[in-house]
Amino acid sequence: MTEDKILQLLRQIKSAPGAGDIVSEGMVSDIIIRDGTVMFSISVPAEKAEACEPLRKQAEDAVAGMEGVNKAMVVLTAERAPSAQQPSSPSSAPKAAPRAPSAPQQQKGPSHIDIAGVRQIIAVSSAKGGVGKSTTAVNLALALQANGLKVGILDADIYGPSIPRLLKITDKPTAVANSRRMNPIKAYGLMAMSIGLLVDPDTPMVWRGPMAVSALTQMIRDVNWDVEGKLDVLVVDMPPGTGDIQLTMAQQVPLSGSVIVSTPQDLALIDARKGIAMFRKVNIPILGIVENMSYFSCPTCGTRHDIFGHGGAHATATEIGVPFLGEIPLHMEIRERSDAGEPIIVAEPESDHTAVYLQIANAMMKQIAGVTRPAPAIVIE
Ligand code: ADP
Repeated sequence: MTEDKILQLLRQIKSAPGAGDIVSEGMVSDIIIRDGTVMFSISVPAEKAEACEPLRKQAEDAVAGMEGVNKAMVVLTAERAPSAQQPSSPSSAPKAAPRAPSAPQQQKGPSHIDIAGVRQIIAVSSAKGGVGKSTTAVNLALALQANGLKVGILDADIYGPSIPRLLKITDKPTAVANSRRMNPIKAYGLMAMSIGLLVDPDTPMVWRGPMAVSALTQMIRDVNWDVEGKLDVLVVDMPPGTGDIQLTMAQQVPLSGSVIVSTPQDLALIDARKGIAMFRKVNIPILGIVENMSYFSCPTCGTRHDIFGHGGAHATATEIGVPFLGEIPLHMEIRERSDAGEPIIVAEPESDHTAVYLQIANAMMKQIAGVTRPAPAIVIE
């Protein structure tokens, strides 16, 4: 199976009746072929995203039927201008407007996960608190959604659940009649659940390790994630650190991979390496490192200040053998939007910051496409 063969086949698919084919029109990008799985993007104007679903399906079915292909995963990337399509590599991803939350999405992910309603589970973790893990998790979940995936977010941060605040959720989850299952809360199109919605925020909880793990694994298992259709990806905002709870979570939750959020200082130090070592110990693929608060982006003059130098994080990631997914600036706007419960990617879909999150989500999707790890069984204590 080669990229050329795939492009050759896709040349038979017209972008619209009477129009040119999707390859000649520059709509196909990011072809990844790994272990029999083929993944690529079709760039379409944002307002035509829903109407282009049959086109996506046609391309996916065509490639899935090729000899040597086990699975095909095609995503629609919403473009602002159809003429400005470029391959969306991490360094040149197009700006995309988030899709309408109600848009029907039926991507088939290359998942082996045995959790009803969820194809892939991705942990977002950090070696310590306060590095912007939750802010990054929320914006990346929304960026994956903007790239056409159906996404959920689980706030597993028992030490400081912040997803209700970051997504401005005030409703309590409802129980499903005659069962112990709960429905997630829909926020900005994401299916969300938080430990913060289940415990009283004013009553400090003292979590014993096994109790915490049990609560968290149940939250993954007993939530109707697919209440509006199967999720392609469930993003789990993990508790910070690399202690027993995190290790047990990593062992018991069938994670497809993990993204590690770090600040430049931690990357240079030992903290981020600890997180990487933990996931490696339990054989969970590391999708990559995101460097948050990477450089200071001055709100007054707009200039970039590389307070911590530049390129160090990337070099460190290479040195320890994990992909580097991208760098997010330290910017007042990101903090203000985040703390106001209006994630920047929703509040300012055209901003440079949004573009950064979209690029990182793109890089993540490439890594996800390569994941074919079978899921371990979940053990509930
Ligand atoms: P963690 O989950 O690691 O504890 P949070 O996501 O809660 O961290 O972020 C901690 C604080 O830093 C929040 O006030 C958040 O708005 C802010 N923050 C996170 N990322 C950025 C960023 N890139 N630029 C500016 N502020 C940020």
